[in-house]
Amino acid sequence: MNHSLQRRSAEPAQNDTLPVVLIVDDQPINIAFTGSALEGICLPVGANDGEQALQLARQHQPDLILLDIRMRTMDGFETCRRLKSDPQTRSIPVIFLTALKDEENEEQGLRAGAIDYISKPFSTPLLRARVRNHLRLYRQQRQLERLAQLDGLTGIANRRTFDELLQSCWAQQAGKQPLALLMIDIDAFKRYNDSLGHQSGDDAIRRIARCIEASLQRHEDLVARYGGEEFACILPNTDLNGADHLARTIQNAVAALRIEHPDSPTSPFLTLSIGGAAVIPDPQESPRLLLRKADANLYQAKQSGRSRTALG
Ligand code: GH3
Ligand code: MG
Ligand code: MG
Repeated sequence: MNHSLQRRSAEPAQNDTLPVVLIVDDQPINIAFTGSALEGICLPVGANDGEQALQLARQHQPDLILLDIRMRTMDGFETCRRLKSDPQTRSIPVIFLTALKDEENEEQGLRAGAIDYISKPFSTPLLRARVRNHLRLYRQQRQLERLAQLDGLTGIANRRTFDELLQSCWAQQAGKQPLALLMIDIDAFKRYNDSLGHQSGDDAIRRIARCIEASLQRHEDLVARYGGEEFACILPNTDLNGADHLARTIQNAVAALRIEHPDSPTSPFLTLSIGGAAVIPDPQESPRLLLRKADANLYQAKQSGRSRTALG
């Protein structure tokens, strides 16, 4: 499970122990002063103007941004608006830290997307307390976002993540490279449950999920739990040959697990049927087209005896 689950929201702060805070101010002395006020609770990174702040925010993916308003080139409001309009930096919380104290500026700052507004000169204990609170909230928010992307039983991507990623790959690759899909279904799984119990069924689903995940070869491939005992892989920039190769790898890897199935019509061990398809996405069409093709091939694999792959 790579891709969308590797998005920044799922990642811990860059430093293992301390979150990163980007301090943006055109006076280097202010950056140094604020950085030392926050000593021990974060790793400060400084930017001297709005442009540099945008660039460092994308590069370092800080956990919080402290933003001055009055800066020479791009002011803090504009910087904040641009941070909030870039999908790569949109979710990073911004606090204005400024000598401008009036209500109007504070309102403008909050309307530009900031989460808080602190006037300078600041009280060090209050700044530390607020920064700590915002860092904690942001961490919790990212954990929740991450959980919402995962399937509860297996820990791999869930159906929602699959649908979102398929949609975005379809749009990104439209008219360019082929996009491949594998639909994977465990064979005779009802019988597996019936003979070994539901708990063993759950364990088998978990093991197979991990096994498929470990079989993926590229960073941008994704496997999701599509439904009960069904999985689906999205393989960006992959043609039918590539999809076929991966399907075989997955079949072999699951066979090597040798999960005993006392009542299987295909083998003494659990087997998979896989349907695959690859197309160059047409922006006029929906990705459902690719799903339908892969599904029809899965049906074909089942009809022609199970424990096999059908692509086309
Ligand atoms: P086929 O070879 O045609 O795919 O047969 P099958 O028995 O695998 O397919 P069917 O769709 O008839 O049944 C799927 C079974 O998967 C039924 C259901 O009990 C089981 N299943 C679905 N989700 C879970 C789950 O989360 N845990 C367990 N233990 N079993 C599940
Ligand atoms: Mg099924
Ligand atoms: Mg099945």
